Amino acid sequence: MSLGKAMIHARKQKTAARAAAYAAESGTHAGIHAGHILQMPVLVLNASYEPINICGARRALVLVLKGIARTEEEHGTTLHAQRSFVAMPSVIRLLEYRRIPHQTRALSRKNILLRDRNQCQYCGVVLPSGELTLDHVVPRSRGGNSTWENLVACCHACNRRKGNRMLSEIDDMILLREPRPFSLHTSRQIMRMLGRGDDRWRKYLFY
Ligand SMILES: [Zn+2]
Repeated sequence: MSLGKAMIHARKQKTAARAAAYAAESGTHAGIHAGHILQMPVLVLNASYEPINICGARRALVLVLKGIARTEEEHGTTLHAQRSFVAMPSVIRLLEYRRIPHQTRALSRKNILLRDRNQCQYCGVVLPSGELTLDHVVPRSRGGNSTWENLVACCHACNRRKGNRMLSEIDDMILLREPRPFSLHTSRQIMRMLGRGDDRWRKYLFY
């Protein structure tokens, strides 16, 4: 590791440790458990106010403490650790503009489940992540690849039923929707869904 990298690494650790200290030693005015608060979704805006992501409150707090982002809307709860208080953010904005590449999401199990909103794409059941698997629409044994277009969230029952067959070989099994790459458009839909009931988010979501 180069000296520069090591310094950045150390700084990252220090900031993360600070956030963790807030998490560990904090109580809240609202009386909600701190662990829960640190997992709440926070809307992330680009410097231009364009909504670009959602992250957990813990990550948002790290970005604010590091001076990468500032809080635009507060959540209304406060974490306190020793002598300092931190207002929990609901919306943060990056201080420097980031160019968002056309496809920002990595192909991963987590992101496939997020895209499919934890819904089996065959029978429509919605389940916790741990109870879902990924299905290759065209089975790997038949030449199917691991791509956005060929992977879908699937319950274990449908996965077993489908086995190594193609959909064209099964009478009553169809895809609820055509799988597509996770685009910024998809992210926006999810942001709007999550922010539907939240005034602090809503005004930024129709950018
Ligand atoms: Zn299913």
